[in-house]
Amino acid sequence: VEELAGRRVTVAGLGVSGVPAAKVLQGLGADVTVVDGADGERPRAQAAELEALGVTVRLGDGATLPKGTELIVTTPGWKPSSPLFLAAAEVGVPIWGDVELAWRLRGRNGEVPAPWLAVTGTNGKTTTVRMLAAILEAAGLRTAAVGNIGVSLLDVVLADEPYDVLAVELSSYQLHWASSVRAHSAVVLNLAPDHLDWHGSMEAYAADKGRIYEGNQVACVYNTADPATEALVREADVEEGCRAIGFTLASPGPSELGVVDGILVDRAFVPDRRSNAQELAEVSDISPPAPHNIANALAAAALARAFGVEPAAVRDGLRAFRPDDHRITHVETVDGVEYVNDSKATNTHAAEASLAAYEHIVWIAGGLAKGAAFDDLVTRSARHLRAVVLIGADRALIRDALARHAPEVPVVDLDRTDTGAMAAAVRAAHELARPGDTVLLAPACASMDMYLDYNQRGDVFAEAVRDLAATAQ
Ligand code: ADP
Repeated sequence: VEELAGRRVTVAGLGVSGVPAAKVLQGLGADVTVVDGADGERPRAQAAELEALGVTVRLGDGATLPKGTELIVTTPGWKPSSPLFLAAAEVGVPIWGDVELAWRLRGRNGEVPAPWLAVTGTNGKTTTVRMLAAILEAAGLRTAAVGNIGVSLLDVVLADEPYDVLAVELSSYQLHWASSVRAHSAVVLNLAPDHLDWHGSMEAYAADKGRIYEGNQVACVYNTADPATEALVREADVEEGCRAIGFTLASPGPSELGVVDGILVDRAFVPDRRSNAQELAEVSDISPPAPHNIANALAAAALARAFGVEPAAVRDGLRAFRPDDHRITHVETVDGVEYVNDSKATNTHAAEASLAAYEHIVWIAGGLAKGAAFDDLVTRSARHLRAVVLIGADRALIRDALARHAPEVPVVDLDRTDTGAMAAAVRAAHELARPGDTVLLAPACASMDMYLDYNQRGDVFAEAVRDLAATAQ
């Protein structure tokens, strides 16, 4: 890393990770150029900030490799097939992501670097990382939840604050560009098709997720219900003595964590392999105690136990954990109908998890499908559906899947993509729901056709529900 001084480094992209990366590299004495295909008010403001520090910024052209580039540091959004990277590959220029840069900068301040407990998967990453951080805190460890959850690893690694251990969320994009990261222990929570437009294929997506296990020191944690995650463990090249640890919603086998009579039980990290299982916490300690979330808790517990955390701290941490907003969040009960916001269900796998958690559902869905198919989701969820209300750009894909696999379920297609569509959807759902039902926003799609992000989509939903509650009284 010391060798970065004087080197010509090109940063691909501005934004939340490009700007900090450029600043760090500049601070290390590198000769930094940032390129970004965009040009407009926001990029220009970010460019001005960097130029004041002596960084060169080129807007409106993200494809041409700046002359003399010796290293590229990329932000996660850029696809591997971007022309800039193809040009770099041709002349043998290495490409690092911001996570790779952070990994290489660890311990630069002379501290012993904190080990990483790393989490990836198609769904549940943020929840699991937050549960893990809560457990580590309950154990009295100095820790932080960092990475893809919106806290840059670069910021944490460069801060002078000492940590005992980090709870790190890694996206498939970040893993793609992080070849030398070596976690203490890691988990792939689950694998379902997502972001295939970025990775190119399911195989490439899985391979990038699997990188999280490379070089693990103590444990590779996998999901026994998702054989693809176990296959990734088998393929990984790990340190000697590193163990494969499964988690299951059923009774655990040896080297597994699982559930017995409503109790989370550890049969992997017991003092003596022949001794009985170790009880960790009760299912009722987890909020919400939905099956997918119990799986997240087991994964977090497995990583914490791999790090040596005591059972009591696992329990205290899980009790202290509160889910983030927009993830199966209860909004209001109106006329005996519960309204639930799962705006974060931006793909079919996540939507399936929340549709499985309720009995009779009026489902609000639709948005940007990102190339997904809805047949499996509809087939598996149909028996829970009272009715469906559709909004958003790709709603026809869901409507057609419903017509094919669940023709008996009433569908209201609002045929709208304006921001006001959500309030109309809530009113339509109110008409369709019966007392005891759940109205569930779980769009199974991204939000950017109608909203800034899933947060705004969820906020608009919650506001519409509160308006409904006010008029219903
Ligand atoms: P990520 O960080 O991977 O996007 P989140 O914890 O933010 O994951 O949850 C994303 C969505 O996936 C939410 O809608 C949530 O209800 C759902 N979800 C959470 N955990 C799981 C899981 N283990 N399996 C399936 N869906 C899940």
